[in-house]
Amino acid sequence: MKKLLFIGFLLIFINLPQEASARPLRVFVSILPQKYFVEKIGGDLVEVAVMVEPGASPHIYEPKPKQMVALAETNIYFAIGVPFETTWLEKIAATNPNMLVVHTEAGIKKIPMKGHHHEGRELEQDHHTIKDPHVWLSPPLVMIQARNILQVFLKVDPANRSLYEKNYNNFIKEVVMLHAEIRAALEGKGKKLDFMVFHPAWGYFAQAYGIEQVPIEIEGKQPKPAELQYLIQYAKERGIKVIFAQPQFSWQAAQAIAKSIDGQIVFVDPLAVDWDTNLRQVASKFKSALK
Ligand code: ZN
Repeated sequence: MKKLLFIGFLLIFINLPQEASARPLRVFVSILPQKYFVEKIGGDLVEVAVMVEPGASPHIYEPKPKQMVALAETNIYFAIGVPFETTWLEKIAATNPNMLVVHTEAGIKKIPMKGHHHEGRELEQDHHTIKDPHVWLSPPLVMIQARNILQVFLKVDPANRSLYEKNYNNFIKEVVMLHAEIRAALEGKGKKLDFMVFHPAWGYFAQAYGIEQVPIEIEGKQPKPAELQYLIQYAKERGIKVIFAQPQFSWQAAQAIAKSIDGQIVFVDPLAVDWDTNLRQVASKFKSALK
């Protein structure tokens, strides 16, 4: 009997670590583009679930009860600093004390949300308090996030170090190529060019490529009639013919402006899961609009 017990213990000790390493790491991310980054670096060693479901807005998202339950089985939560986390990240962390909560945007210097530059003092103050959360739309900033993701995997699963590092190096090469490609597509236009966008998600992208976004809405606030008039005037003066909008938001204001300037609405999605393909497409849409 004693012998059997001893063998039993031995089996437990032998089995536990093997079982743990054979199972992929369970990871949660806030938004779809992060799934792309985490899978690039984690490969088959990770299984990724996304909190903000396709078509939903990370500005106002509320986790579903079944997602809160799934967190109990999660090893790592990769946050990115999108607005719904302000309300929810603490609750998310509290569901599972064994889950590592990581801020992938750590080390990124955030810029204030850009407002309508003609506006009064009240609005201006508003803009300065809101930091732009859309850090995943700039390839140079994604390299910082990739580094943060890699560090976490090396810490949590050091046995697979070489695999993570290999994946990371390949991903960085891809991001460097994408960055060069977009820069080549958008540069050489002479002066700085404006594009008008309904929801100002493209601030870091614009910063990376020397173009400038003119927002219609600022973080959920629709323009007042006077602002709308100003924007129409602005677009006419600058010869802007395309208004960019995104599928997750209502875009009546964008439509009103487009109609007034005899222009059109083009959809660009900041939250697509096929991150690199999407950024390429966005760059080519911007390129044709900025001609
Ligand atoms: Zn946004």
